[in-house]
Amino acid sequence: MTTPSPDREALRERLLAAAREARHHAYAPYSGYAVGAAVRCEDGRIFAGANVENASYGLTICAERAAVFRAVNEGARRIEAIAVVTRDGGTPCGACRQVLSEFADGDAVIWCASDEDVAVEEYRLADLLPFAFRLPSQPSGDDELILGGM
Ligand SMILES: [Zn+2]
Repeated sequence: MTTPSPDREALRERLLAAAREARHHAYAPYSGYAVGAAVRCEDGRIFAGANVENASYGLTICAERAAVFRAVNEGARRIEAIAVVTRDGGTPCGACRQVLSEFADGDAVIWCASDEDVAVEEYRLADLLPFAFRLPSQPSGDDELILGGM
């Protein structure tokens, strides 16, 4: 176990605050389970999201994916840290772990906290998703848009 550095603690608190704020925007009339998430990108930007449910349940999107898709749509490609705030400190679902693995390395940190921050658990993405599905990028000419600008 490494000793938390002041920078790391500051990042954790900043990300958790962003996730907590985003949680207030959750649309969760069916489950009642509001979630806020925030991701810190390699370039230092932070993007947050909340879960958005739908009467057709399968169309629901989790807070984690909302935050990741927001980041990617703003041009970010690498995520270094993730914070998730729920009522009980829940961890990201399997689908979100897979989506996170597309843009984050296995050693990316995931902080999960309850809304009251009673306990903040820290995980590595590789611990939550040890065998992420990978598909090699397919070079398809020189269209940078297809390749996602990576
Ligand atoms: Zn999810």
